[in-house]
Amino acid sequence: MTRIGILGYGNLGRGVELAIRQNDDMELAAVYTRRDPASVSIATEGVPVRSVADLETGNEDIDVLILCGGSATDLPEQTPKYAALYNVVDSFDTHANIPTHFANVDAAARNARTCALISCGWDPGLFSLNRLYANCILPQGADYTFWGRGVSQGHSDALRRIPGVADARQYTIPVPAALDAVRAGDNPQLTTRQKHTRECWVVLEEGADAQAVEKQIVEMPNYFDEYDVTVNFISQEELDRDHAGLPHGGFVIRTGTTAGGNDCRIEYSLDLGSNPEFTACVLVSYARAVARLASEGAKGCKTVFDIAPAYLSPVSGEELRAHML
Ligand code: NAP
Repeated sequence: MTRIGILGYGNLGRGVELAIRQNDDMELAAVYTRRDPASVSIATEGVPVRSVADLETGNEDIDVLILCGGSATDLPEQTPKYAALYNVVDSFDTHANIPTHFANVDAAARNARTCALISCGWDPGLFSLNRLYANCILPQGADYTFWGRGVSQGHSDALRRIPGVADARQYTIPVPAALDAVRAGDNPQLTTRQKHTRECWVVLEEGADAQAVEKQIVEMPNYFDEYDVTVNFISQEELDRDHAGLPHGGFVIRTGTTAGGNDCRIEYSLDLGSNPEFTACVLVSYARAVARLASEGAKGCKTVFDIAPAYLSPVSGEELRAHML
């Protein structure tokens, strides 16, 4: 049994709790939170909710700690801190800051002789692996990543910060014509606007000016100004009824040409009913790999690029070779 600790009980933390149930070799040891543990009730009976302070002894009986805090401010602090005490896995997804995060976690883990895996999930994570495979296999070609259709939590938060907005959801949607051109092997040069559209579902506060809110949305720098945006105003009841989920997904495509002049396309796609529950499934299978690597004496920080696929599986190498090769 691999004993898993969850640090941070939000969408992803709840997802990890669920994913462990589908893996017979995994056991949830405890959930750790920065909040008062008495205020956090979890779905699994008989598993304790403990204070994050309990982790600091380094003596908790866990094989891998899965860090489920946010990438913006939680993980840059938490992952190096807890990599100095336990084997850890995180889903850090601020792509531009991955090199710095890696260096910080690697230093902590090497010093403590623990094994850490950062930036696991689907992007970064499974999409990164597919970009790497496709680049190695078709050295002459072009890469494309499309996201959606899916809820962007960052963009939904940005909408909710606009004065007059009571609640909101934002979907990122790939432009079908762009996907078609890429799949046809046209190797198009696509602008931001040509790749994705953004669809907003907004609940106004009473008395708010819809036109003024819409103007603020479509002109918001970085978030919306470079995209074609549609804004729909709906009631809170409609938002709760029709937009409660957190679906996501996307496509990683590479088109290339062999030295013999033949066109080839590699495409990997995900269609996820729940982004956090799926991400959690990825984290749990990689936690198995981290536990194995740690038991073999591996130390320092890894990414998905460093983990051999067989380490993700509960099944023996012999069985994998017989049934999946
Ligand atoms: P979230 O729900 O906002 O949770 C983040 C943290 O906030 C939790 O760990 C929890 O920590 C705290 N929290 C949650 N609910 C709370 C509440 N009601 N009151 C007070 N505090 C609360 O974020 P999330 O959706 O789980 O996402 C976490 C991160 O996953 C994201 O930042 C993103 O970077 C990453 N992610 C990565 C991928 C990938 O493919 N790599 C995909 C999806 C998401 P405490 O329990 O300690 O308070």
